[in-house]
Amino acid sequence: MRYDLDYIRHRWPRRETRNGRSSMWRYAPVLPPLEEHIISLGEGWTPLIRARRLGSRLGADHLWIKDEGLNPTGSFKARGLSCAISMCVELGVRKVAIPSAGNAAGALAAYAAAAGIEAHIFLPRDVPEANYLESKAYGAEVTLVDGLISDCARMVAERKEAEGWIDLSTLKEPYRIEGKKTMGYEVAEQMDWELPDAILYPTGGGVGMIGMWKAFQEMERMGWIGSRRPKMIAVQAEGCQPIVRAFEENEPRSRFWDGAHTVASGLRVPKPLGDFLVLEAVRKSGGTALAVSDAAMLDAGVLLASQEGIYAAPEGAACVAALPKLLESGLLKPADQIVVYNTGTGLKYAEAYATRFPRVSASEQDKLGGLITPR
Ligand SMILES: *Cc1c(COP(=O)(O)O)cnc(C)c1O
Repeated sequence: MRYDLDYIRHRWPRRETRNGRSSMWRYAPVLPPLEEHIISLGEGWTPLIRARRLGSRLGADHLWIKDEGLNPTGSFKARGLSCAISMCVELGVRKVAIPSAGNAAGALAAYAAAAGIEAHIFLPRDVPEANYLESKAYGAEVTLVDGLISDCARMVAERKEAEGWIDLSTLKEPYRIEGKKTMGYEVAEQMDWELPDAILYPTGGGVGMIGMWKAFQEMERMGWIGSRRPKMIAVQAEGCQPIVRAFEENEPRSRFWDGAHTVASGLRVPKPLGDFLVLEAVRKSGGTALAVSDAAMLDAGVLLASQEGIYAAPEGAACVAALPKLLESGLLKPADQIVVYNTGTGLKYAEAYATRFPRVSASEQDKLGGLITPR
């Protein structure tokens, strides 16, 4: 999407956003749908929370968590699908389909329900239970696929023409990224138009990062911010790290990651379509790409929850796990303003977190003298 930013710049000064809605639609002048077509459930304008206790433990004096877990359907995917479904309403689309690693499915199903649009969802069979259940509850037609999101995408591509579905795979349509870019507008406004030194973003398809990068360019064109950019840091899972490999090998694009596996379902994207755009943002900003293990993510998630009261998705927790490595390497300094994106709520990942807290029966507890000790 391109906007006439020179026109907008003279009519929409940044102080105006304060009078906007308490949702991502406060940035409506740089979003595509007309006002009357907006389908909103209250997405965006999520809190940016100062993490003092966690920061002091990890040696980061100015650590912030952008908590996307508070979005409708519990992840930032709500932003993209609120925008895309609004445009479906505007354009008269009646049937949509999506391949999803998990959270996009729930978000699509919710917004499609709110708009009265038919939704067809393709999910890997081993998707977290919460994503399957919410999609069904919202009334979508759900197909479980033996494979990964890439296999789901192929099924949508094969059937969409005959079925008359509009394919809402990310970056195959122009609107989801427009919703996701509002994460970049919000961090700027919430930090009083002074971007942080670093942004840690859990990267699956990488569309959130590409969107934020676009938002920064738009804001600069409107004179809202200067040319300085945060170091964009892509965090992936050890079991699926195509962006990290391409970054390390100095390649412009990634290669398909074989045997992708991780509990962070949103990071299980073996070949991101927009890989070259993610790599460009990471490189141009002086950032980096790195991977952490599933065990490190879940431990970091428990640390974040117990220190700050934020129960994060393993994806968001991956960024917390990556932070000590980045401070150790010297890429980040203790005095830096650091923003971690927690892209979803931990509540949707019961199976993953259950591995940290196996339940002990009453009789076993007695034997342990009443102590409940995670094993
Ligand atoms: C989809 C998803 C991601 C990955 O998002 P991209 O912007 O496509 O990289 C990360 N975390 C969660 C919780 C997700 O649902």
